[in-house]
Amino acid sequence: MIRVDIAVLGAGIIGGMTAREIAARAPSASIALLDRAEVAGGASRRSAGLHFPRGGNARVRESTAYSHRFYEQLRSEQPELPIFPVPMSVIASADTFEAEREKYLPLAGLTPAADFTHRFAKAPAETSVWHGHGCHYADVPALTAHLVNQLRDRVVVREGVHVQGLEQTPDGIELRLATGESIRAGRVVLAPGPWLHADAWAPLVGPLGARVKKVVALHIADRPGPDDRLVVLHDEDAFLLPLRERGYWLFSYTCQEWDVTPDTLPTCLTGQDIAEARAVLGRYAPDLASAASSGRVFCDAYSPDRTPLVQPLAGDPRLVFAGAANGSGYRLAPAIAKAAADLVLG
Ligand SMILES: Cc1cc2nc3c(=O)[nH]c(=O)nc-3n(C[C@H](O)[C@H](O)[C@H](O)COP(=O)(O)OP(=O)(O)OC[C@H]3O[C@@H](n4cnc5c(N)ncnc54)[C@H](O)[C@@H]3O)c2cc1C
Repeated sequence: MIRVDIAVLGAGIIGGMTAREIAARAPSASIALLDRAEVAGGASRRSAGLHFPRGGNARVRESTAYSHRFYEQLRSEQPELPIFPVPMSVIASADTFEAEREKYLPLAGLTPAADFTHRFAKAPAETSVWHGHGCHYADVPALTAHLVNQLRDRVVVREGVHVQGLEQTPDGIELRLATGESIRAGRVVLAPGPWLHADAWAPLVGPLGARVKKVVALHIADRPGPDDRLVVLHDEDAFLLPLRERGYWLFSYTCQEWDVTPDTLPTCLTGQDIAEARAVLGRYAPDLASAASSGRVFCDAYSPDRTPLVQPLAGDPRLVFAGAANGSGYRLAPAIAKAAADLVLG
């Protein structure tokens, strides 16, 4: 039996950030970070990695502001990290935008665009355009791997270890691995991404009411230039992101396929995915719609009120759930990690 003070289960961007936060704040604690795959092998591997200063409710906006400051500082301390600033334009129907303007943080500095010229996108009739900033995108798997790599002398990182059982005992939380080993941890942060309903914790996580939704983004074969802007299609909850370092544009739209499971979901596009995405894209960038024929597919965990879930499970303060970030797990990871560390360190 291996014993540690704190185990973080799941080495995606949220588990990785949480292990980093705990290690910084509890220098003498023994910590293990466990993943059944490799670091950032889950939803984080497919993330578009967009951070932009918007939040659907006050708590998400507060978390966004925290994460924004965190990433700014990280980037200034480690400029080599794969985090790339990008200017933003928001296209929205004027009425909707006035009603929902508060969703954008003041730091976005949104100002009406006198004229909007974009290589592809156009503002349809009855819409207006605002310019803003405070956005970046990241290579999420590379960033996660980098941050976890920096922890390896301090934290036991175990990849390829499937946690098949989780039991609350008087002496700690016992994690049973598929290797036959057990780890007893004083406290556990469960950051399983979309693996919400694994047998080992389904009865504990079920009452949170979180669900898993398919997430699709199309890749558009056209090399972005250095001045290309992120275009947020506010009314559609979609965006067009110039992934300069990858050499293509990414179009993210809202897919409504719910209650999928990460182990059985095909990670390739269907004809329906392409048709749905093109229908949205065609209204704003008709020339691009036909070029959108490849992409990335996975899923993410969503909470009932669209606020990430960071809370003890089954009333046990030793066992903290962190996740369900509603397709914004990269953007909100620093704030989620802070909240999880606050709880688990008591
Ligand atoms: C296509 C796509 C585009 C996206 N774009 C954006 C974006 O632009 N901006 C943004 O902010 N967010 C975006 N997201 C969402 C974001 O990627 C996720 O919210 C985030 O990656 C979730 O991180 P996580 O650490 O919770 O989950 P994951 O990265 O899935 O990590 C969970 C880990 O837990 C491990 N695990 C699960 N079960 C077990 C077990 N039994 N034993 C051991 N380990 C286990 C998994 O192997 C996995 O590595 C996107 C998601 C997708 C799919």
